[in-house]
Amino acid sequence: MRALLSNDALLCAAIFPKTSAYLALSRWKGMAMFHSASRHGWHPFMLKGQQLATLCVPHKSFYWISTDSDQLETSSLRPRRRRHLCYYFTQGLCTMENDPLHLEKFTHDYPDLKLSPLQLNNLQQQPFEFYLVLDLEGMVEILEFPVVMIDAKTLEAVDRFHRFVRPVKMSEKRIDEYIEGKYGRWGLDRVWHDTAIPFTKVLKEFERWLQSHGLWNARQGGKLKRAAFVTCGNWDIKTKIPQQCVTSSSYLPSYFLEWVNLKDIYLNFYKRRAGGMLAMLKGLQMPMVGTHHVGLDDAHNIARVLQRIMIDGGIVKVTAKKSMDNPSEVKFRFKNRV
Ligand SMILES: [Zn+2]
Repeated sequence: MRALLSNDALLCAAIFPKTSAYLALSRWKGMAMFHSASRHGWHPFMLKGQQLATLCVPHKSFYWISTDSDQLETSSLRPRRRRHLCYYFTQGLCTMENDPLHLEKFTHDYPDLKLSPLQLNNLQQQPFEFYLVLDLEGMVEILEFPVVMIDAKTLEAVDRFHRFVRPVKMSEKRIDEYIEGKYGRWGLDRVWHDTAIPFTKVLKEFERWLQSHGLWNARQGGKLKRAAFVTCGNWDIKTKIPQQCVTSSSYLPSYFLEWVNLKDIYLNFYKRRAGGMLAMLKGLQMPMVGTHHVGLDDAHNIARVLQRIMIDGGIVKVTAKKSMDNPSEVKFRFKNRV
Protein backbone atom coordinates (compact mmCIF):
# COMPACT_ATOMS: atom_id res chain seq x y z
CA MET A 1 0.00 0.00 0.00
CA ARG A 2 2.81 2.39 0.91
CA ALA A 3 4.36 2.02 -2.53
CA LEU A 4 1.18 3.13 -4.19
CA LEU A 5 0.62 6.01 -1.76
CA SER A 6 3.97 7.48 -2.72
CA ASN A 7 2.91 7.49 -6.34
CA ASP A 8 2.25 11.05 -7.59
CA ALA A 9 -0.48 9.86 -9.87
CA LEU A 10 -2.47 8.36 -7.01
CA LEU A 11 -5.89 9.93 -6.64
CA CYS A 12 -7.50 7.86 -3.93
CA ALA A 13 -7.20 4.74 -1.89
CA ALA A 14 -9.45 2.64 0.27
CA ILE A 15 -9.32 -0.35 2.55
CA PHE A 16 -12.27 -2.65 2.76
CA PRO A 17 -12.21 -3.96 6.36
CA LYS A 18 -14.53 -6.90 5.84
CA THR A 19 -12.57 -8.44 3.02
CA SER A 20 -9.14 -6.89 3.81
CA ALA A 21 -9.02 -5.82 0.17
CA TYR A 22 -7.30 -2.65 -0.97
CA LEU A 23 -8.34 -0.39 -3.78
CA ALA A 24 -6.35 2.49 -5.13
CA LEU A 25 -7.20 4.91 -7.91
CA SER A 26 -4.51 6.50 -9.98
CA ARG A 27 -4.37 8.57 -13.09
CA TRP A 28 -2.24 7.06 -15.82
CA LYS A 29 -1.78 8.77 -19.16
CA GLY A 30 -4.94 10.77 -18.63
CA MET A 31 -7.02 7.77 -17.70
CA ALA A 32 -8.40 6.85 -14.34
CA MET A 33 -7.38 3.38 -13.33
CA PHE A 34 -8.23 1.25 -10.33
CA HIS A 35 -5.79 -1.12 -8.74
CA SER A 36 -6.94 -3.94 -6.53
CA ALA A 37 -4.59 -5.84 -4.31
CA SER A 38 -4.48 -9.53 -3.74
CA ARG A 39 -1.81 -11.93 -2.62
CA HIS A 40 -0.53 -11.88 -6.20
CA GLY A 41 0.11 -8.14 -6.27
CA TRP A 42 -1.65 -5.12 -7.71
CA HIS A 43 -3.99 -5.50 -10.64
CA PRO A 44 -5.15 -2.53 -12.66
CA PHE A 45 -8.66 -2.45 -13.96
CA MET A 46 -10.75 0.29 -15.49
CA LEU A 47 -13.83 2.15 -14.37
CA LYS A 48 -15.85 4.62 -16.34
CA GLY A 49 -15.53 8.33 -15.46
CA GLN A 50 -19.09 8.63 -14.19
CA GLN A 51 -18.62 5.88 -11.68
CA LEU A 52 -15.58 7.71 -10.29
CA ALA A 53 -17.66 10.79 -9.54
CA THR A 54 -19.99 8.84 -7.29
CA LEU A 55 -17.29 6.79 -5.67
CA CYS A 56 -14.91 9.55 -4.64
CA VAL A 57 -15.00 12.36 -2.09
CA PRO A 58 -12.05 14.60 -1.27
CA HIS A 59 -10.23 14.06 2.00
CA LYS A 60 -7.12 16.16 2.60
CA SER A 61 -4.87 15.63 -0.36
CA PHE A 62 -6.33 12.28 -1.26
CA TYR A 63 -9.67 11.20 -2.52
CA TRP A 64 -10.98 8.37 -0.47
CA ILE A 65 -13.25 5.75 -1.87
CA SER A 66 -15.98 4.69 0.44
CA THR A 67 -17.61 1.31 0.44
CA ASP A 68 -20.88 3.14 1.19
CA SER A 69 -20.81 4.83 -2.15
CA ASP A 70 -24.57 5.41 -2.19
CA GLN A 71 -24.24 7.79 0.78
CA LEU A 72 -21.82 10.04 -1.06
CA GLU A 73 -23.25 12.88 -3.05
CA THR A 74 -20.45 15.21 -3.94
CA SER A 75 -17.10 14.88 -5.50
CA SER A 76 -14.46 17.34 -6.57
CA LEU A 77 -13.04 14.78 -8.92
CA ARG A 78 -14.57 15.71 -12.24
CA PRO A 79 -13.43 13.38 -14.98
CA ARG A 80 -12.11 15.50 -17.86
CA ARG A 81 -13.81 14.96 -21.16
CA ARG A 82 -11.45 13.04 -23.38
CA ARG A 83 -10.58 14.77 -26.61
CA HIS A 84 -10.69 12.84 -29.85
CA LEU A 85 -7.74 12.82 -32.16
CA CYS A 86 -8.42 15.29 -35.01
CA TYR A 87 -9.06 13.07 -38.01
CA TYR A 88 -8.64 15.98 -40.42
CA PHE A 89 -5.11 16.33 -39.05
CA THR A 90 -4.39 12.59 -39.41
CA GLN A 91 -5.21 12.87 -43.12
CA GLY A 92 -3.13 16.02 -43.54
CA LEU A 93 -6.25 18.18 -43.93
CA CYS A 94 -6.68 20.16 -40.67
CA THR A 95 -6.88 23.93 -41.22
CA MET A 96 -7.86 24.81 -37.63
CA GLU A 97 -4.73 23.95 -35.67
CA ASN A 98 -4.79 27.45 -34.10
CA ASP A 99 -8.53 27.59 -33.39
CA PRO A 100 -9.13 27.42 -29.58
CA LEU A 101 -12.65 25.97 -29.96
CA HIS A 102 -11.32 23.23 -32.21
CA LEU A 103 -8.46 22.52 -29.78
CA GLU A 104 -10.93 22.22 -26.90
CA LYS A 105 -12.58 19.29 -28.65
CA PHE A 106 -9.72 17.69 -30.57
CA THR A 107 -6.09 16.84 -30.02
CA HIS A 108 -3.35 16.81 -32.65
CA ASP A 109 -1.13 14.50 -30.63
CA TYR A 110 -0.97 10.88 -31.62
CA PRO A 111 -1.07 8.32 -28.79
CA ASP A 112 2.33 8.04 -27.17
CA LEU A 113 3.99 4.86 -28.46
CA LYS A 114 7.46 5.87 -27.26
CA LEU A 115 9.49 3.40 -25.23
CA SER A 116 12.53 3.74 -23.01
CA PRO A 117 15.84 2.21 -24.23
CA LEU A 118 15.71 -0.18 -21.25
CA GLN A 119 12.57 -1.77 -22.70
CA LEU A 120 14.54 -2.78 -25.80
CA ASN A 121 16.94 -5.10 -23.93
CA ASN A 122 15.28 -8.33 -25.10
CA LEU A 123 14.68 -7.13 -28.63
CA GLN A 124 15.50 -9.79 -31.26
CA GLN A 125 16.63 -9.27 -34.81
CA GLN A 126 13.42 -9.05 -36.83
CA PRO A 127 12.96 -10.30 -40.42
CA PHE A 128 11.69 -6.84 -41.46
CA GLU A 129 12.86 -3.26 -40.96
CA PHE A 130 9.32 -1.93 -40.64
CA TYR A 131 5.87 -3.18 -39.77
CA LEU A 132 2.76 -1.58 -41.24
CA VAL A 133 -0.11 -2.09 -38.81
CA LEU A 134 -3.35 -2.02 -40.80
CA ASP A 135 -6.86 -2.13 -39.36
CA LEU A 136 -9.75 -1.61 -41.78
CA GLU A 137 -13.22 -0.47 -40.74
CA GLY A 138 -16.44 -1.23 -42.60
CA MET A 139 -18.29 -4.48 -43.22
CA VAL A 140 -20.26 -3.89 -46.44
CA GLU A 141 -17.58 -1.69 -47.98
CA ILE A 142 -14.35 -0.33 -46.48
CA LEU A 143 -14.95 2.99 -44.67
CA GLU A 144 -11.53 3.65 -43.17
CA PHE A 145 -7.98 2.68 -44.13
CA PRO A 146 -5.41 3.40 -41.40
CA VAL A 147 -1.79 2.28 -41.28
CA VAL A 148 0.73 2.84 -38.46
CA MET A 149 4.38 2.30 -39.46
CA ILE A 150 6.59 0.83 -36.72
CA ASP A 151 10.40 0.70 -36.89
CA ALA A 152 11.51 -2.84 -35.95
CA LYS A 153 14.75 -1.61 -34.31
CA THR A 154 13.53 1.32 -32.20
CA LEU A 155 9.87 0.16 -32.07
CA GLU A 156 8.85 3.78 -32.63
CA ALA A 157 5.93 4.83 -34.80
CA VAL A 158 7.72 6.54 -37.68
CA ASP A 159 4.68 7.55 -39.70
CA ARG A 160 0.96 7.00 -40.26
CA PHE A 161 -1.26 6.82 -43.32
CA HIS A 162 -4.95 7.48 -42.70
CA ARG A 163 -7.89 7.91 -45.08
CA PHE A 164 -11.64 7.64 -44.76
CA VAL A 165 -13.04 5.66 -47.68
CA ARG A 166 -16.25 6.43 -49.60
CA PRO A 167 -18.25 3.37 -50.74
CA VAL A 168 -18.89 3.16 -54.47
CA LYS A 169 -21.86 0.77 -54.68
CA MET A 170 -24.13 2.39 -52.11
CA SER A 171 -26.80 5.07 -52.48
CA GLU A 172 -26.17 8.45 -50.78
CA LYS A 173 -29.04 7.74 -48.40
CA ARG A 174 -27.56 4.37 -47.42
CA ILE A 175 -24.12 5.96 -46.94
CA ASP A 176 -25.65 8.63 -44.65
CA GLU A 177 -27.34 5.97 -42.49
CA TYR A 178 -24.26 3.79 -42.48
CA ILE A 179 -21.94 6.62 -41.40
CA GLU A 180 -24.39 7.99 -38.85
CA GLY A 181 -24.56 4.53 -37.26
CA LYS A 182 -20.84 3.93 -37.39
CA TYR A 183 -19.16 7.29 -36.63
CA GLY A 184 -22.12 9.48 -35.55
CA ARG A 185 -21.99 8.28 -31.93
CA TRP A 186 -18.59 9.96 -31.54
CA GLY A 187 -19.49 13.04 -33.60
CA LEU A 188 -17.08 11.91 -36.32
CA ASP A 189 -19.61 11.64 -39.17
CA ARG A 190 -18.86 15.22 -40.26
CA VAL A 191 -15.12 14.59 -40.75
CA TRP A 192 -15.93 11.36 -42.56
CA HIS A 193 -18.28 13.14 -45.02
CA ASP A 194 -15.79 15.99 -45.48
CA THR A 195 -12.81 13.78 -46.27
CA ALA A 196 -13.80 10.29 -47.50
CA ILE A 197 -12.49 9.38 -50.97
CA PRO A 198 -13.05 6.24 -53.13
CA PHE A 199 -10.95 3.16 -52.43
CA THR A 200 -9.07 3.31 -55.76
CA LYS A 201 -7.91 6.85 -54.90
CA VAL A 202 -6.91 5.71 -51.40
CA LEU A 203 -4.77 2.96 -52.98
CA LYS A 204 -3.06 5.48 -55.26
CA GLU A 205 -2.26 7.79 -52.33
CA PHE A 206 -1.16 4.82 -50.23
CA GLU A 207 1.20 3.66 -52.97
CA ARG A 208 2.71 7.16 -53.14
CA TRP A 209 3.17 6.99 -49.37
CA LEU A 210 4.80 3.52 -49.62
CA GLN A 211 7.15 4.82 -52.32
CA SER A 212 8.07 7.90 -50.25
CA HIS A 213 9.33 5.49 -47.56
CA GLY A 214 11.07 3.24 -50.09
CA LEU A 215 8.80 0.31 -49.19
CA TRP A 216 7.45 -0.42 -52.63
CA ASN A 217 8.12 0.47 -56.23
CA ALA A 218 5.29 0.80 -58.74
CA ARG A 219 7.50 -0.08 -61.71
CA GLN A 220 8.82 -3.27 -60.11
CA GLY A 221 5.56 -4.20 -58.38
CA GLY A 222 5.68 -7.30 -56.21
CA LYS A 223 5.78 -7.50 -52.42
CA LEU A 224 6.63 -4.74 -49.97
CA LYS A 225 10.35 -4.16 -49.54
CA ARG A 226 11.82 -4.24 -46.01
CA ALA A 227 8.31 -4.25 -44.53
CA ALA A 228 5.30 -6.44 -43.74
CA PHE A 229 1.68 -5.72 -42.97
CA VAL A 230 0.45 -6.57 -39.48
CA THR A 231 -3.26 -7.13 -38.90
CA CYS A 232 -5.40 -8.43 -36.05
CA GLY A 233 -6.82 -11.57 -37.68
CA ASN A 234 -6.74 -12.54 -41.36
CA TRP A 235 -9.97 -10.79 -42.41
CA ASP A 236 -8.49 -7.43 -43.49
CA ILE A 237 -6.08 -8.66 -46.17
CA LYS A 238 -7.39 -12.16 -46.85
CA THR A 239 -11.06 -11.21 -47.29
CA LYS A 240 -11.91 -7.53 -47.21
CA ILE A 241 -9.32 -6.00 -49.52
CA PRO A 242 -9.91 -8.53 -52.35
CA GLN A 243 -13.70 -8.01 -51.92
CA GLN A 244 -13.34 -4.22 -52.07
CA CYS A 245 -11.11 -4.53 -55.15
CA VAL A 246 -13.90 -6.44 -56.91
CA THR A 247 -16.52 -3.88 -55.75
CA SER A 248 -14.30 -1.01 -56.88
CA SER A 249 -13.39 -2.75 -60.18
CA SER A 250 -9.72 -2.52 -59.24
CA TYR A 251 -6.85 -4.99 -59.54
CA LEU A 252 -5.59 -6.59 -56.31
CA PRO A 253 -2.25 -4.92 -55.55
CA SER A 254 0.67 -7.35 -55.37
CA TYR A 255 1.74 -6.10 -51.92
CA PHE A 256 -1.46 -7.55 -50.41
CA LEU A 257 -0.34 -11.17 -50.90
CA GLU A 258 1.31 -11.71 -47.51
CA TRP A 259 0.84 -10.43 -43.98
CA VAL A 260 1.35 -11.06 -40.27
CA ASN A 261 -1.72 -12.06 -38.30
CA LEU A 262 -0.69 -10.72 -34.90
CA LYS A 263 -3.13 -13.06 -33.14
CA ASP A 264 -1.19 -16.07 -34.49
CA ILE A 265 2.11 -14.56 -33.28
CA TYR A 266 0.58 -13.79 -29.87
CA LEU A 267 -0.87 -17.31 -29.53
CA ASN A 268 2.35 -19.08 -30.49
CA PHE A 269 4.63 -16.76 -28.49
CA TYR A 270 2.71 -16.43 -25.21
CA LYS A 271 0.92 -19.81 -25.59
CA ARG A 272 -2.23 -17.94 -24.65
CA ARG A 273 -5.42 -17.59 -26.62
CA ALA A 274 -5.76 -14.33 -28.52
CA GLY A 275 -9.47 -13.57 -28.89
CA GLY A 276 -9.12 -10.12 -30.42
CA MET A 277 -7.44 -6.79 -29.88
CA LEU A 278 -9.13 -6.14 -26.53
CA ALA A 279 -8.38 -9.67 -25.29
CA MET A 280 -4.70 -9.32 -26.25
CA LEU A 281 -4.46 -5.93 -24.49
CA LYS A 282 -6.17 -7.39 -21.43
CA GLY A 283 -3.88 -10.42 -21.42
CA LEU A 284 -0.89 -8.07 -21.38
CA GLN A 285 -2.53 -5.80 -18.76
CA MET A 286 -2.41 -2.83 -21.12
CA PRO A 287 -5.24 -0.27 -21.13
CA MET A 288 -6.75 0.66 -24.48
CA VAL A 289 -5.99 4.11 -25.92
CA GLY A 290 -8.43 6.16 -28.02
CA THR A 291 -11.82 4.98 -29.28
CA HIS A 292 -12.42 1.31 -30.06
CA HIS A 293 -13.71 0.82 -33.65
CA VAL A 294 -12.18 4.02 -34.96
CA GLY A 295 -9.72 2.34 -37.32
CA LEU A 296 -6.72 4.56 -36.64
CA ASP A 297 -7.15 4.20 -32.86
CA ASP A 298 -7.44 0.41 -33.19
CA ALA A 299 -4.31 0.39 -35.36
CA HIS A 300 -2.45 2.25 -32.58
CA ASN A 301 -3.59 -0.31 -30.03
CA ILE A 302 -2.59 -3.22 -32.27
CA ALA A 303 0.77 -1.47 -32.76
CA ARG A 304 1.16 -1.38 -28.98
CA VAL A 305 0.55 -5.14 -28.78
CA LEU A 306 3.12 -5.60 -31.57
CA GLN A 307 5.63 -3.44 -29.65
CA ARG A 308 5.02 -5.45 -26.51
CA ILE A 309 5.55 -8.82 -28.24
CA MET A 310 8.88 -7.54 -29.60
CA ILE A 311 9.83 -6.06 -26.20
CA ASP A 312 9.20 -9.50 -24.69
CA GLY A 313 11.53 -11.10 -27.24
CA GLY A 314 9.07 -12.28 -29.88
CA ILE A 315 9.99 -12.54 -33.56
CA VAL A 316 7.36 -11.22 -35.93
CA LYS A 317 7.33 -13.28 -39.13
CA VAL A 318 4.83 -13.42 -41.98
CA THR A 319 2.03 -15.83 -40.99
CA ALA A 320 -0.02 -15.97 -44.21
CA LYS A 321 0.87 -16.00 -47.92
CA LYS A 322 -1.01 -16.17 -51.21
CA SER A 323 0.30 -16.45 -54.73
CA MET A 324 -0.74 -14.25 -57.64
CA ASP A 325 -1.62 -17.40 -59.65
CA ASN A 326 -4.11 -18.63 -57.08
CA PRO A 327 -5.08 -15.71 -54.84
CA SER A 328 -7.95 -17.59 -53.20
CA GLU A 329 -5.60 -20.10 -51.58
CA VAL A 330 -3.77 -18.98 -48.42
CA LYS A 331 -0.78 -20.78 -46.94
CA PHE A 332 -0.44 -20.33 -43.17
CA ARG A 333 2.78 -20.55 -41.17
CA PHE A 334 1.46 -21.93 -37.90
CA LYS A 335 -0.44 -25.11 -37.16
CA ASN A 336 -1.78 -23.44 -34.05
CA ARG A 337 -3.87 -20.63 -35.43
CA VAL A 338 -6.55 -18.28 -34.23
ZN1 LIG B 1 -7.55 19.64 -36.29
